[in-house]
Amino acid sequence: MVRAPSCPICDATVAPDTHEKTFPFCSARCRNIDLFRWAEGRYALVEPLTPDKLAEIELREEMEGEDGG
Ligand SMILES: [Zn+2]
Repeated sequence: MVRAPSCPICDATVAPDTHEKTFPFCSARCRNIDLFRWAEGRYALVEPLTPDKLAEIELREEMEGEDGG
């Protein structure tokens, strides 16, 4: 029995037909979160992301996106 790969970010099962662009993450969002962690320079902290943490990251990404000074 082959063990289905799981997303290293949210631990969700990664579908076999996941796009190569996002593999091994379950989605582009989780891939971005991974990049975000690297950018933060604290990737060494391997802790499961809670829904609160995900929301926090999304908020920060939105703020960065709305840079209409
Ligand atoms: Zn994920």
